[in-house]
Amino acid sequence: MKSAKLIDGKVQIINLDKPILDTKGAIIKVIGCGLCGSDLVKIKHATKENEKNIILGHEVVGIIEEINSISDFKKGDIVALGHHYPCFSCEYCKNQSYSMCRTFKNSNIFPSGFSEFIKVDENHLKYTVYKMNDELKNDEKAFLEPLSCCIRAVRRAGFEINKDNSEFSALTIGLGSIGLLMLKSLKAFGVQAFGFDISSDRMKTSKDNGFLFDENKKYDTVFLTAGNSKTIETALKYVIDGGKIIVFSSVEDDLKGFTNNEIYYRELSIISSYSPSPYDIELSAKFLNTNIVNVKGLSSHYTLDNLAKAIDDSFNNKIFKAYIEI
Ligand SMILES: [Zn+2]
Ligand SMILES: [Zn+2]
Repeated sequence: MKSAKLIDGKVQIINLDKPILDTKGAIIKVIGCGLCGSDLVKIKHATKENEKNIILGHEVVGIIEEINSISDFKKGDIVALGHHYPCFSCEYCKNQSYSMCRTFKNSNIFPSGFSEFIKVDENHLKYTVYKMNDELKNDEKAFLEPLSCCIRAVRRAGFEINKDNSEFSALTIGLGSIGLLMLKSLKAFGVQAFGFDISSDRMKTSKDNGFLFDENKKYDTVFLTAGNSKTIETALKYVIDGGKIIVFSSVEDDLKGFTNNEIYYRELSIISSYSPSPYDIELSAKFLNTNIVNVKGLSSHYTLDNLAKAIDDSFNNKIFKAYIEI
């Protein structure tokens, strides 16, 4: 079967044996897989030493081809999935830092989302795999994992789905696909959501989706999704004294950042959010399947053979979000 692999710094399509179902779990025939910003970061920072361990692609939608499980899934089910699950019993899990759990970090799909077939284990089926509504297009189903990341960030900011959050405002800085998903997640939680980007094109897309920016306002919470340390200054300008800043991306120049005294005298909370828990994935499936969050028309489609072009186009900001048809 075809599978994408990073070799000598270049993404290549190689031939691998189809995975075998030798434990409980399932073999999933991949229909498509979204290209994540974290895939781009991995590619950019790959070295000769670590590239063989890099797994590209995790925003999978597929059809269950073979199954050996006590779960309710059956052959032919169309599912989307997350790739990591926690143990629920370690020191990290006790603090609800599920994405720091070592089981979480070591669990993954095999061999990678940009493959014709993948293997998932019984815990994936239990915690991260969801049947998706037939009315959704496949590229929409593939938003299960990225949307769950944003839901995680919204929850890390202290918003709860069953509470009235309507008196709170949040500003998302960086309006790429993940920024827009953040805005949609905030809206789903009932938070007043505003968006800012230095790109007027992206501001327009966000406006077309119903999200504005008010430069005269201070915001209770600011989400950083741009991957650029310059946005920290903007965040400090627009966050209310006593407010929260949610760090949601890595940056290239890590030395510039928050200063102790500004955080202290303004009593700011700097909170990070990295990767979703099973509950965030469950909520994401609900939002997508019941159309609370609509992700229609956000993706540009490529074939697996054209994955390298999808990566180039993403690096060059030519597209909003790449979806690879496998
Ligand atoms: Zn992702
Ligand atoms: Zn754990």
